Amino acid sequence: MRPERVRIFAVHERTNSIGRHLPTSGGLGKMLQNAEDLGCETVQVFISNPQGWAEPVLRPDAGEFVAGVRERGIFPTVAHAKYLINLASPKAELRERSVRALAAELSAAGEMGLDLVVVHSGSHGGDGERRGMDRLVEGLERARELAEASGRAAEPLVENSVGAGTQLCSTFDALGEVTRRAGVRACVDTAHAFVAGYDLAIPGGPRLVAAELQAALGDAVGLVHLNDAKNELGSHRDGHRKVGEGMIPAASWAELFAALPGVPVVMETPYEDPDADAEEVRLVKELAGGLRKAAAGR
Ligand SMILES: [Zn+2]
Ligand SMILES: [Zn+2]
Repeated sequence: MRPERVRIFAVHERTNSIGRHLPTSGGLGKMLQNAEDLGCETVQVFISNPQGWAEPVLRPDAGEFVAGVRERGIFPTVAHAKYLINLASPKAELRERSVRALAAELSAAGEMGLDLVVVHSGSHGGDGERRGMDRLVEGLERARELAEASGRAAEPLVENSVGAGTQLCSTFDALGEVTRRAGVRACVDTAHAFVAGYDLAIPGGPRLVAAELQAALGDAVGLVHLNDAKNELGSHRDGHRKVGEGMIPAASWAELFAALPGVPVVMETPYEDPDADAEEVRLVKELAGGLRKAAAGR
């Protein structure tokens, strides 16, 4: 499906930056060139192996990266923290390791001039949601303290989960509580929200979901992970599809964007080929109000 025809649904001037997660395997310079080719105004990268515990190392091309970001006006720049991190774990050792790993990501991201670090809310592992949330809040606070003590630190954003097993923060209320208590902002993943039970697929749904989000989080939404869902509403199973190719109609996004002015959007959808990936960025820009961003937007 190549849904170019959905542009008629965009009714507002676009105020949000739009981009996607990009690989850094060819170096940060190549990643930025790739971002430019795809029309990305914001980017997300990994700064360490997300599946291993090795800490991020400052890359030799970090200087080139900072200059390239400034030159292209890319904002915000986002790192996604390791998937292994679980600040809410009932195991003290894993919790400790997670705090140190997140602190290292915040510090390294800050050193590299990145603005935001997205971290998953984690799992209580059978200890109950209450205790899990307490640990998550404490872990976020400690990681931030550690990172700030060692110099420049990026801002952490805690992400909503699909609510599988003992995962925390699949509801906006839980996510809102954590952001308030820990003094952080959130990243809201649309595919996660959908499979957790927020119906973005029916007409009028996105407006209601946005209103719930607003009520629970206020202005603490720092980023949207814009992913179409591979799995059904309420299935609690993760899986990302390209925009317009999953369970959520492309037209839903115009409605959601209208309710979240200025909140940057990063897609974590499957790569296809450069043309299809550029087309997806273009489509989302049109749904958000147009190819050009309003001067007043961030
Ligand atoms: Zn994530
Ligand atoms: Zn996901």
